[in-house]
Amino acid sequence: MGKPNENNSMVVDDLMSICPHCGFLLGVFIPGMPCPMCGETLL
Ligand SMILES: [Zn+2]
Repeated sequence: MGKPNENNSMVVDDLMSICPHCGFLLGVFIPGMPCPMCGETLL
């Protein structure tokens, strides 16, 4: 919809996720980092 500075260049939206363990909304996360909520490693 109305996002002005979005340049459709293979944005890795797939990495924007929730923790599969506790359901915490991560937003952007780095694979391998621990969930800030439950500490579960996110792959
Ligand atoms: Zn979690």
